[in-house]
Amino acid sequence: MELIIGAHVSFKNDKQLLGCVQEALSYKANTFMFYTGAPQNTNRLGIKDELTLEAYKLMKENNIDLNNVIVHAPYIVNLANSKNFDFSVSFLTSEVERCSLLGINKMVLHPGSAVEGNRDIAINNIIKGLNLILDNNYNVTICLETMAGKGNEIGKTFEEINRIIEGIKFKDKIGVCLDTCHINDAGYDISNFDKVLDEFDSIIGLDKLKCIHVNDSKNDIASHKDRHENIGYGYLGFNNLINIIYNKKIENIPKILETPYITKTDDSKERAYPPYLFEIEMIRNKKFNDNLISDIRNYYK
Ligand code: FE
Ligand code: FE
Ligand code: ZN
Repeated sequence: MELIIGAHVSFKNDKQLLGCVQEALSYKANTFMFYTGAPQNTNRLGIKDELTLEAYKLMKENNIDLNNVIVHAPYIVNLANSKNFDFSVSFLTSEVERCSLLGINKMVLHPGSAVEGNRDIAINNIIKGLNLILDNNYNVTICLETMAGKGNEIGKTFEEINRIIEGIKFKDKIGVCLDTCHINDAGYDISNFDKVLDEFDSIIGLDKLKCIHVNDSKNDIASHKDRHENIGYGYLGFNNLINIIYNKKIENIPKILETPYITKTDDSKERAYPPYLFEIEMIRNKKFNDNLISDIRNYYK
């Protein structure tokens, strides 16, 4: 089976999904993930169907399967918080509708943060919110992302993710997105990834796994930091990440890079460039590039 690998791309109003596909192709990716607007706010513009249709055409020409494309919900929305709960539910409902308008059937969501202190109440709020959001006729699965456990984040263990899933009435519309940086930072030893997958399978069930975020980490295991690093440049290391990416049990699951941009100063202006073309090349070759940073700086002139 062919590796399904892509990266986080941006959805801009002028080209919308078409721009996402073009950006993904510039990285030689065969899938991608995007926010349907700025992740730090909830301003959203209308979906333009003519751009969506053009995007589909370009995807077809390049063998990109819409079933492997992912939307990421904005991270400011917090279903765990009783304040703004109604707003969070209605905003995420409209976000699911936007996914559906674009023909995308997977939306990754950070479960939430227990900002009010009590984790049990937070989890109950998340369950209540998801049941309201998923009571719809859209074919969109919400994938709960495994979190690093920074601050009061919910979803730092498979058990906690499963507690949420158990409360969901619409089991066929709830899944999980596993983020390699986050599970490392949460305390899982990814150097024995088969063991991690076995644990995932026994607690949640591997059939629930719909997306993998492939990131290295700037911090050691159990640091609860959530700072992504370029592939092979962090604590997870290149070989461990390759073992995860090529693991047979998850070969049909889309893998998405969310690694940091590389900065470069020209004419005393600092700019940041995407690492994905070169990281995807390393991954396809299964060969670490120790000149990654300078290759990126030289390529984007
Ligand atoms: Fe995320
Ligand atoms: Fe992630
Ligand atoms: Zn993260």
